[in-house]
Amino acid sequence: MHKDCKEILVTGEQITKRCQELGAQISKDYEGKEVILVGLLKGSVPFLAELSKYITIDVYFDYMDVSSYDGATSTGNIVVETDLKQSVRGKHILIVEDILDTGRTLATIVPYIRERGAASVEIVTMLFKPERLERSIEAKYIGFNVPNAFVIGFGLDYDQKYRNLPYVGILKEECYQ
Ligand code: 5GP
Repeated sequence: MHKDCKEILVTGEQITKRCQELGAQISKDYEGKEVILVGLLKGSVPFLAELSKYITIDVYFDYMDVSSYDGATSTGNIVVETDLKQSVRGKHILIVEDILDTGRTLATIVPYIRERGAASVEIVTMLFKPERLERSIEAKYIGFNVPNAFVIGFGLDYDQKYRNLPYVGILKEECYQ
């Protein structure tokens, strides 16, 4: 375990097993449909790579890079830094996210994609922090529920570090205080 990690919450093996289950469910639910997996950069990349191995229908990949800037209000402002490269019109969109926390990011991105004429927009998230949710956002597919702690690994960073850890763990408080 990394020296800055307090505790492992989800092992790499558990993530693989859950991706197999989610991949099978997604393949069944979207059979015969045109699907674009939209990864939110950068955190979703390892999860997208693992999950997509177990999706047996044809899917396209695309990516968005969104940043959250907290302004004077506490709501935060989501800015699209890099947009999708392909049209979503008439396509079934599955947004792939590392963690659903307050829901602010997805509360902006879901309508943004819907307004462009997608046939459907759903979310698959590796992790969900139920205690933190502020917006009425629902992920159709959830890997694991996690407690209200700052987690790192499997794509999740602190100051751009720890994304490469092959598990999800809790960052030691002394590393960000
Ligand atoms: P939301 O908009 O749902 O509040 O936040 C989603 C984003 O916040 C995630 O994509 C992730 O980048 C970041 N985030 C939220 N909670 C955590 C956490 O515990 N650890 C890390 N590393 N990032 C988090």
